[in-house]
Amino acid sequence: MSTAIFPNLVAGEWVSGHGALININPSDTDEVVGEYACATSAQVREAASAARSAGAAWAVAAPGVRSDLLRRIADEIERRCGELALLLSREEGKALRDATAEVTRAAEIFRYYSGEVFRMAGERSPSLRSGVTIEVLYEPIGVVGLITPWNFPVVIPAWKIAPALAYGNAVLFKPSELVPASAWALADIIDRAGCPKGLFSLLMGDGTVGREIVDVVDAVSFTGSVATGTAVAQRAAARMIPAQCELGGKNPLVIAADADLDVAVDCAIQGSFMQAGQRCTASSRLIVDVERVADFTQALVARMEKLVIGAAISPGTDIGPVIDERQLAKDLSYIELAETEGARLLTGGGRLNRATPGHFLSPALFGDTSNQMRVNREEIFGPVACIIPVRGYDEALAVANDTDFGLSASIVTSSLKHAQHFKANVRSGLAMVNLPTAGVEFHVPLSGLKSSSYGPPEMGHHAMRFYTKARTAYTFAA
Ligand code: NDP
Repeated sequence: MSTAIFPNLVAGEWVSGHGALININPSDTDEVVGEYACATSAQVREAASAARSAGAAWAVAAPGVRSDLLRRIADEIERRCGELALLLSREEGKALRDATAEVTRAAEIFRYYSGEVFRMAGERSPSLRSGVTIEVLYEPIGVVGLITPWNFPVVIPAWKIAPALAYGNAVLFKPSELVPASAWALADIIDRAGCPKGLFSLLMGDGTVGREIVDVVDAVSFTGSVATGTAVAQRAAARMIPAQCELGGKNPLVIAADADLDVAVDCAIQGSFMQAGQRCTASSRLIVDVERVADFTQALVARMEKLVIGAAISPGTDIGPVIDERQLAKDLSYIELAETEGARLLTGGGRLNRATPGHFLSPALFGDTSNQMRVNREEIFGPVACIIPVRGYDEALAVANDTDFGLSASIVTSSLKHAQHFKANVRSGLAMVNLPTAGVEFHVPLSGLKSSSYGPPEMGHHAMRFYTKARTAYTFAA
């Protein structure tokens, strides 16, 4: 293998594979960020077997040992934050400011779960029978497969790897083929932090590695598209192993008649367009009361036209490029479709040229759309949002709920009554009031309804439900 190819971490050793992923900078497609080895089928099996041995010892390791490892990982991520953020920005196209925030959050997550180790308590229950005590014990599930997407190359791996290790499991980690550099750096940090050999393997690849992992693990956590998530869940069910899938969204941002205009515009800018709309929690449907369509549209267009679209690492860039040529083509095809469906393009929607060749797209806003149009029903995953005019709160809520997805939903309102009603009745896992649909915290559950999620929630203490198995012991003390 050429020494220029970054290897996989398999069974505690850094090893070459077959072929390589060529990692291209979306802000400058002339720049190759690096080449990364693809794991072979034999390496996936070898990693699983090593994980099983190392996991047996890790499952019974003193909590302090597990906690210390996670804390050392957190410290190292924090220490190397600038370097990791730059790498993330180069390979994914996220504006450096957002990349820095993502890396910082990853360190916080490892630190949070270093404490969670000590909260892995069981329960003691009364029995129906006198003299009998019942204990509910939470035990690690074994070897978990973690398959992560390209849109958050550091923080999504962090919020799966940290609880997996904290609750005593071994890990096979498969990052998206589009962002292997951040994954490699994270794996290197975990290895150098003193992770026991074989407990954690990095298996990069494109085409087969994900499904091979699902075939050898005891549980799988996946984030990505509904189509792949469905295949993952079906295969997991066939093997009778637990699956946790965090999938897409078509998230509504409701602007009520009594909304504060500045808050409304800010929520739309942050939720719909930042990070090029490449967030499962992005607000792609702007459901606006007819009384506010004119002033909201005018203010939003004015703010959008001030956004700086450019190379992700340039200071002052608000929004970097979209991830790759395929995603750009998808975004442009939906922009064309919206116009065909009768939507009115209010601003943006065109490919942009910058000093370097990249996948730059001007954020697009459409007016006069209906919730039945395909642009309002299918996940685009780009900087495209549509205004859907509605009359009154009841219609707004009905339109918000009229979707196959149910990840995040927000309302901008000054009515306490509507805010409370919305939180109780909107059919989404995340409900926001006067906040963007995007932006979640790590100590509370993340999960969607309908086709946005499958299985137990991620994050916070709730992650323990997925990463452990409950066993029950009955004792009669004669
Ligand atoms: P995919 O949903 O296609 O997932 C790709 C990953 O899944 C790869 O790592 C792949 O590895 C693995 N994989 C593919 N098939 C299987 C399988 N049957 N079993 C197990 N693993 C499998 O993501 P894409 O990057 O292609 O994104 C496509 C769309 O997904 C986006 O346009 C967007 O709509 C959505 N998305 C949603 C995200 C979210 O946060 N909710 C994040 C990113 C994307 P391998 O090929 O080696 O098997």
